[in-house]
Amino acid sequence: MKTTIVGFPRIGENRELKIATEKYFRGDLTQEQLAAEGKRLRRMHWNLLKEAGISLIPSNDFSFYDTTLDTAVLLNVIPNRFSALQLSALDTYFALARGYQGEAGDVTALPMKKWFNTNYHYLTPEFEQQTEVKLVGTKVFDEYLEAKAIGIETRPVILGPYTLIKLSDFKGTTVQEHLPALISAYQEVIAKLSELGAEWLQLDEPSLVKDLTPDERQLFMSIYRELAGGTRETKLLLQTYFGDVRDIYEDLSTLPVDGIGLDFVEGKQTLQLFETFGFPQDKKLFAGVVNGKNIWRNDYSRTLNLLAKLPHDQLVLSTSCSLLHVPFSVAQESFPAEVARHFSFAKEKLSELTELAAIADPTDDIAKSALLADNYRLFDTARVTANEQLTHRLAELTAADFQRLPAFEERSRLQKSALALPLLPTTTIGSFPQTREVKAARAAFKKASLSEAEYHDFLREKIADCVAFQEDIGLDVLVHGEFERNDMVEYFGEHLSGFLFTKKAWVQSYGTRCVKPPIIWGDISRERPITVGWSAFAQHLTEKPVKGMLTGPVTILNWSFPREDISLKESTLQIALAIQEEVLDLEAHGIKIIQIDEAALREKLPLRKSDWYSEYLDWAIPAFRLVHSRVAPETQIHTHMCYSEFADILTAIDQMDADVISFEASRSNLSLLDALSAQHFQTAVGPGVYDIHSPRVPSVAELRATIQALLEKIAADKLWVNPDCGLKTRDEKETFASLKHLAQAAQEARKEL
Ligand code: GLN
Ligand code: ZN
Repeated sequence: MKTTIVGFPRIGENRELKIATEKYFRGDLTQEQLAAEGKRLRRMHWNLLKEAGISLIPSNDFSFYDTTLDTAVLLNVIPNRFSALQLSALDTYFALARGYQGEAGDVTALPMKKWFNTNYHYLTPEFEQQTEVKLVGTKVFDEYLEAKAIGIETRPVILGPYTLIKLSDFKGTTVQEHLPALISAYQEVIAKLSELGAEWLQLDEPSLVKDLTPDERQLFMSIYRELAGGTRETKLLLQTYFGDVRDIYEDLSTLPVDGIGLDFVEGKQTLQLFETFGFPQDKKLFAGVVNGKNIWRNDYSRTLNLLAKLPHDQLVLSTSCSLLHVPFSVAQESFPAEVARHFSFAKEKLSELTELAAIADPTDDIAKSALLADNYRLFDTARVTANEQLTHRLAELTAADFQRLPAFEERSRLQKSALALPLLPTTTIGSFPQTREVKAARAAFKKASLSEAEYHDFLREKIADCVAFQEDIGLDVLVHGEFERNDMVEYFGEHLSGFLFTKKAWVQSYGTRCVKPPIIWGDISRERPITVGWSAFAQHLTEKPVKGMLTGPVTILNWSFPREDISLKESTLQIALAIQEEVLDLEAHGIKIIQIDEAALREKLPLRKSDWYSEYLDWAIPAFRLVHSRVAPETQIHTHMCYSEFADILTAIDQMDADVISFEASRSNLSLLDALSAQHFQTAVGPGVYDIHSPRVPSVAELRATIQALLEKIAADKLWVNPDCGLKTRDEKETFASLKHLAQAAQEARKEL
């Protein structure tokens, strides 16, 4: 049985690509040196796959930034303002990805968006009226030939035309206008690959797993009938992932493609579709059976059961999606063997594929039983012992645990008199600049060259300065500054039981940015107070309220690798109970306002609208409610979300039942503000009045104008004034100036109410 993968991580075992690319950005590496590093990594990864015994090896899954952008650039989908810079091909590419400011001009980057339901981000291609879609690039051919030159036949991968259209912006033009040229450009790619002798081309079409309208189906089918029809040497693999293709499954079998890649892991209905409608005999079935997103070992007995139902002679064993979403190798970690044996990162998943292929081969009984026995042992007994007390607490929860009383309006009145805040209260989102000094102190403490007492003295000094500054400029609700935190999820993970941390398990988030999510290993509980000491210390320095600052359960879950032996819901409720204890502790220590950040709430929203509530919001929103349901009516609960993209789930956001929500408010969200008032959104709002992602200092006049504009959409007694996110990535200088202006603008605006 043949094996393959949808794609391999490209950043390298030790983030070599990130390091080299950033050096290039700084001018410390030439184009040739960067190109050579890319080549070295590709070669290494191809060889790794070959040595692992993978039979069909992909190419062009490598990228210097993003593969969606690669496909756009291959087909000349480059807005004029970028080509007008007249930079080299590589620098034009990086200008599209990161913006450009220099001698040649000044353009902002293409917008970056979340890649389906992952934490990877792609760049949004932009079609203009003048865009002349045609094959201009050579990357896909170059990399195919590069592999061939070292004796490895590969299957080039590009983003398919339908998903490319779905993910792109069409500015002053339409899909129809560019469609004929787009189809011929793809045909040209196929013709060229045929000429070079490529056996397969993989066209990625993850957009097929979303809800499809009849028009979308029709568009997809017409593109592929034209694209795949006709004679060609190179076979076409239509690759889908991140779900099942229930809206188009039957149609796909009629297409003149040679292989279809289906996701049997995340695709809840994939097997059922196969069983109901069968699979065309003239095509290969690339079955995604090894999870491309998780870090756990594959359960062979389950997979073999599945494989037994599929047509053996048409099968190619594959991953459910690209391995881009998992870290490189478990071998780089130093977990004890009995822990490590449960994990499978990209490299280990290759062995799982070849082992599964060997076991599924009916001729090799000996290898089969040894491998199977080994794997069974991972699953036949519980990996961790359950925390009985916690299980009990969760079982005892009733509706009352998810319902804060009294209702919003009454609480709001009580809070007004208890807190005595002015109208348009001012605050920040929590963190203050993590200066070099702060990072150095933390690093020294971790290395034990700074004692705990010394480190804590340092933090208390920082907090005192931070509180004094906020009082000085006249902010109304203060924060302690979050100087003790490295990261909003890792910090809590480190202080809760049940998490494991890795050394090098980096996953690409976008371009050269990588994240290292913690692993949820067991039941989660709080053993001692986490933030209470710091918040209480800050509160005793001032008469003004200091906001306690916590990360919410859904965000902690979404930015970790979750367990699979219990449900996401159950893990999230465990985290919620732990954070609830922290909330109540903060309250007991005199903290009157508590913010529970849910920066990543939107991230795991299912791809199909029909699943939004039943699969996710139905437990995610209650988990948040559980965290704050038991506080006193006078205690004010805030939450924060990083993006303003929640117009479509406003009801759910309101049902979080927070008293105040702050969020990013860039140009685009005046429509969100309209929706807020149209839908009688009850939660008070703090739409960020300036963008913290830029070092620019907004003037008082500018901020006053923004506040004025907000007042036209939002009642004065519902409006808060704050920046749009935490300030940890900024420098002190611009932060202090901006906040001073913010406080002043709010004071002036208040006088005019
Ligand atoms: N309280 C966090 C901070 O201020 C929130 C960060 C975030 O939303 N990503 O840094
Ligand atoms: Zn934020």
